[in-house]
Amino acid sequence: MAGLYIHVPFCKQACHYCDFHFSTAWQHRGRLVEAMRNELRLQQAYLPGREVHTVYFGGGTPSLLSQPELALLLTTIHEHYLVPPAREITLEANPDDITPDSLSRWRQLGVNRLSIGIQTFQEPLLHQLNRAHSRAQALQCIPLARAAGFRNISLDLMYALPGSTVASLARDIDQAVALGPQHISIYGLTIEEKTAFGRWHQKGQLKTVAEGEEAAQFELLMDRLPEAGYEQYEISNFAQPGYHSTHNSRYWTGEPYLGIGPSAHSFNGTTRQHNVAHNAQYEKALQQNEIPATVEILTRENQINEYLFTRLRTQWGVDLHELASRWHYHLPEQQPTAWQQAWQAGWLQQHGTVVTLTRQGKLLADAIAANFFAG
Ligand code: SF4
Repeated sequence: MAGLYIHVPFCKQACHYCDFHFSTAWQHRGRLVEAMRNELRLQQAYLPGREVHTVYFGGGTPSLLSQPELALLLTTIHEHYLVPPAREITLEANPDDITPDSLSRWRQLGVNRLSIGIQTFQEPLLHQLNRAHSRAQALQCIPLARAAGFRNISLDLMYALPGSTVASLARDIDQAVALGPQHISIYGLTIEEKTAFGRWHQKGQLKTVAEGEEAAQFELLMDRLPEAGYEQYEISNFAQPGYHSTHNSRYWTGEPYLGIGPSAHSFNGTTRQHNVAHNAQYEKALQQNEIPATVEILTRENQINEYLFTRLRTQWGVDLHELASRWHYHLPEQQPTAWQQAWQAGWLQQHGTVVTLTRQGKLLADAIAANFFAG
């Protein structure tokens, strides 16, 4: 079961917190679409049997692509890969690109899941983040998508935004729940160095929320979303029954995926491939039929650590038996101090051979995983 990720590296404007790879020169996207089509052709042997069960257009802002550009990419995928009928095809879309026309075109092309970048419903916070959309657009896009026939809609929200409070996050969560999406992803703000927020933070011009406030906001979403019928199946991801993101779940359960486009990553179990994060260099290499990627061979330690890091964040947890049988890694014996500390602190629970995080553990997921790392 493999996934295909297409990175569309264009945005209308730079959000102040974002360090993803993108360019605001989106008028030039036609050349890049051609390069991506060539990469799709050249990489077809990467996935076993060329079979693709999920396709995910991410970015960047894939909703900036025109219908012919999206159609070209999808046709190329169908020419070179085997895509079974019951597949999930996700398009990330920003509220300002969502109209009855665009929705109907995406439906015609076979897109059956939308992931909408709302981040917050509050106008001052949207402005602070430099999002291109308004509160009104955020509110109207889901009813429009539903009216166009979309039955699998995900919203992206953020917490721990500068100036946010538990009360303001509660308003965002209530608003999101009232709109009734099938899936909600919610990420805490991280201040990245090479962003406007990073520069302002360094100069002392950006006041971030206090550590206790961030934890309080995370606890609030762990209360409110399950109460509203959304299961926390990954630390940052909540879904109504039957609506997990199939594509993203593959990342977390270690299944192979192929990433196409500048800065995209691919993974086949033993290697990870990173495409160059530069549009012109990417295009130039593909014009010469070269894949502009560096390949990292994953050591046993890399594989164990990746398993621990991703699986501990999920409801599927870390299977001690799997760790021992695949990599001869006996976690309780090999990390006795961290293991005992985690149990004494009440961060872990165990069913059979599977260990998952408790509510308190979820507040410290990445740090707990790091303490269990091999090597
Ligand atoms: S629209 Fe998305 S990818 Fe583009 S700058 Fe904003 S957060 Fe980053």
